[in-house]
Amino acid sequence: MKSSEIRTAFLNFFKRHGHEIVPSSSLIPADDPTLLFTNAGMNQFKDVFLGREKRTYTRATSSQRCVRAGGKHNDLENVGYTARHHTFFEMLGNFSFGDYFKRDAIKFAWTFLTEELKLPAEKLWVTVYKDDKEAEDIWFNEVGIDQTRFSRLGEKDNFWSMGDTGPCGPCTEIFYDHGPDVAGDPPGGPNDDGDRYIEIWNLVFMQFNRQANGELEPLPKPSVDTGMGLERIAAVLQNVHNNYDIDLFQHILQKASDILGGVALNNTSLRVIADHIRSCSFIIADGVIPSNEGRGYTLRRIIRRAIRHGNKLGATEPFFYKSVAALVEVMGEAYPELVTAQAGIERTLLREEEQFARTLDKGMRVLEEAIANLSGNEVSGHTIFTLYDTYGFPVDLTNDIARERNLILDLAGYEREMEKQREAGRQHNKFGTDYNNVLDIKGASAFTGYDRVTDQAEIT
Ligand code: ATP
Ligand code: MG
Ligand code: MG
Ligand code: MG
Repeated sequence: MKSSEIRTAFLNFFKRHGHEIVPSSSLIPADDPTLLFTNAGMNQFKDVFLGREKRTYTRATSSQRCVRAGGKHNDLENVGYTARHHTFFEMLGNFSFGDYFKRDAIKFAWTFLTEELKLPAEKLWVTVYKDDKEAEDIWFNEVGIDQTRFSRLGEKDNFWSMGDTGPCGPCTEIFYDHGPDVAGDPPGGPNDDGDRYIEIWNLVFMQFNRQANGELEPLPKPSVDTGMGLERIAAVLQNVHNNYDIDLFQHILQKASDILGGVALNNTSLRVIADHIRSCSFIIADGVIPSNEGRGYTLRRIIRRAIRHGNKLGATEPFFYKSVAALVEVMGEAYPELVTAQAGIERTLLREEEQFARTLDKGMRVLEEAIANLSGNEVSGHTIFTLYDTYGFPVDLTNDIARERNLILDLAGYEREMEKQREAGRQHNKFGTDYNNVLDIKGASAFTGYDRVTDQAEIT
């Protein structure tokens, strides 16, 4: 089944069950400063869950474009390392606003997977939140799933939150077992982050609104929010294990490979480029331009990462912008706005490539030299800072390179250098020079580890 057919089958299934088909919203959340980019199908319904907004329907279904490259849900560091994470992906979802609850949500999902898509039940694994006896009973007594493919998990896995505040609740998740050829434990096992058992669908029982002080306030009506990654279910149905082997990616990978002079389609850097062209193009199509703060800086970080991976594959001239055409070929039909935006996206990317090209090579030489002279396994704060400040290397870009060499970053040292620079800026200001224009560091990304790149400009 092609990805586009899966998308249609999903929306039509839920339409038949009384759901309104609602178009994807923009990647730029409307009026929600708590969110960097749309990260789930439920975002556009946030106020409906909170009871602040009424719609003409109480059931909805959508295929939502999402980006997870910062904030609470950040998969930037996973791209290139797992078979299942992208910065940009599509989330298929069905929603109930005070209409049906756990029973129907579970039955719809199970029926869609096993009857509509005809997935064998023995390949599916289910998890519930450890205290959710009600969901557990529905799975055992009404759906009749096998006890041996079932786990009860805690807050980290089975309590879903949109962000630090906002709608949240316990969830139940469905995993697909890609078989013993792939490493990884079942959900709850010590190595359950492997890629054998891949989470395909999350059913969230929206019951609370998390306040800024952490307190959980009950929602006016218990509701349902589900999300299934289109690329992950496509991998299952197309009999491939890795998301990058599905139809949506193969065409882009092929074209990117041609542009770069013939790179193996399973090359990690090529996969990163194929992932990043999707997020960058959609983010630009939704109106963001690269800049030094907030969303624009996240975009810039993703673009520069892609450029560096191209450089690693031997690119000597701008290449990234050339893959936009391949993306439009595979996704333009589902997203006509991408077609309209194509020329603008290409121009924006080309400009960024030309600009970064001026410092990338020099910065790489500085980093290579620093690495060659390392005595331990830690890249110094001074080097990270110089790369950031003089050569335009976002910290996560430096980290991406360090990680390939099994090196780590001295982030505390980097922070000290940043502070010194800020202090110098303040001193100069005393003498009447406005260094704010020159430094422009206020939205700089604070890199705090592999899976937490928080954008300081995000919540403010
Ligand atoms: P994982 O544990 O694999 O990181 P998740 O629990 O963070 O996934 P959810 O927040 O539950 O994901 O999102 C709902 C669904 O969206 C997931 O079950 C998965 O199918 C899909 N999904 C989530 N993150 C990604 C991603 N980065 N790339 C592709 N699909 C994703
Ligand atoms: Mg995740
Ligand atoms: Mg998960
Ligand atoms: Mg999940």
